[in-house]
Amino acid sequence: MKNTEKKRCISCGKSDLSKDEIGINMKLIGAETQNFYCIDCLSDVLGVSVVDIYEKIEEFKEEGCTLFS
Ligand SMILES: [Zn+2]
Repeated sequence: MKNTEKKRCISCGKSDLSKDEIGINMKLIGAETQNFYCIDCLSDVLGVSVVDIYEKIEEFKEEGCTLFS
């Protein structure tokens, strides 16, 4: 059983983070991070808006980043 399948937000406890959410954590916090946040908490931590985060996700997708669905 792999424990990499399900991640939960370490801040609010939201479970079952999406692939996009996990990917953007790795991009913005670092690929080695063990701390994953949902989009809402990530925007808080980084001091940016939720919309900014979604725009970043779209940018990375357009670049063909494999971390995203
Ligand atoms: Zn959260």
